[in-house]
Amino acid sequence: MKGRKLLMIPGPIEFDPAVLQAMSIPTTSHVAPNFIASFGHALDMMKEVWLCPSGQAFVVAGSGTLAMDIAAANLIEPGDKALVVSTGYFGERYADILGRYGAEIDILRADVGEIVPLETIEAKLQQKNYKLLTFTHVDTSTGVLNDPRPFGELGKKYDVLTILDGVCSVAGEEIRQEEWNIDVALTASQKAVGVPPGLALLVASPKAMDTWKNRKYPVPNYYADFKNWLPIMEAYQSRKPSYFGTPPVNLILALETSLQLILNDGMEFRFAKHRKLAKAFRESMQAMGLELFPQRNEIAANTLSAVYYPKGIDGNSFRKEINRQGVIVAGGLLKEKKTEYFRVGHMGEINQNDLVSTVSAIENALKSCGHSFEFGIGIKTALELLS
Ligand code: PMP
Repeated sequence: MKGRKLLMIPGPIEFDPAVLQAMSIPTTSHVAPNFIASFGHALDMMKEVWLCPSGQAFVVAGSGTLAMDIAAANLIEPGDKALVVSTGYFGERYADILGRYGAEIDILRADVGEIVPLETIEAKLQQKNYKLLTFTHVDTSTGVLNDPRPFGELGKKYDVLTILDGVCSVAGEEIRQEEWNIDVALTASQKAVGVPPGLALLVASPKAMDTWKNRKYPVPNYYADFKNWLPIMEAYQSRKPSYFGTPPVNLILALETSLQLILNDGMEFRFAKHRKLAKAFRESMQAMGLELFPQRNEIAANTLSAVYYPKGIDGNSFRKEINRQGVIVAGGLLKEKKTEYFRVGHMGEINQNDLVSTVSAIENALKSCGHSFEFGIGIKTALELLS
């Protein structure tokens, strides 16, 4: 790490050296036998990581927003009713995207730092015949975590497709897509999946795929259309060459490497590791007298934390001081509170030492900025919880 700062933002994150190495090997043809095997293997492993054995995996060059767009473009037809459950910035984005495809949208907005109560969501589902329900698993702007299980149950009860925006959760937070009845779980490569930015990733349930197959109108987005991508994914799954748009060869090799590392640890280990690191981080912040953005610990994410600056401390100088200590954290994102809090990603390959270094940098910065607290308590709390 000499001469390099630790990147602790909510994506892109620190990547495993083996993943970075895959990015730098000589690029092969997208129909070379080694690449066909790797792409097919990555698609197979996605279903294991998402815990969705009957799903259809898609890997398309683009960012997480493209994954959101792909789900919307293929599942929405003009006039379809969609319910967006918003916990912050990315819920609003989903409403925007769905609107582009002609959906009639209702949005349920959570209070700041809260989730929308399930009774409110259920009451809304009783009022109209919705086709689709979206929610953000971990809202990156607030650090708020939604439990996907009740969303899946509501989806089943009211026959509504459920879309989980898992850009800040997949491969970090517990997701059991098939068991929990989630129709689309989507993400991007640069977060807990652990691959540099550039891949839109999603797994669609058989019900989602049937909904697309039974559309009345063609998908009004050429690049996003499953019609173009499904044959490609099916070909690579059967280890055959295929072409629609040139795949990002090295990113897909890196994806194969990272998914293999994740599965070597196992999903249960992975979920538990994220819970443990997140708890240690949250409690160390609280021990230093800082307040978390999520209003309750039960709805605080395990992939990132959003934390209010202490009263009287200037956020920019504080973050600069953390940076001087060798750690990069992110500022606020939610428009109305942007200057009041900072965000720290603790997902993917990061380890206990990275977490302790981050707490230490924050603790030193707090001291330099004149915050009054028991110096050392943050590190002590983290170490006690991690040991
Ligand atoms: N949804 C969530 C929850 C996110 O955190 C992000 C990215 N921060 C996105 C969607 C959009 O992803 P991207 O920036 O890769 O387009």
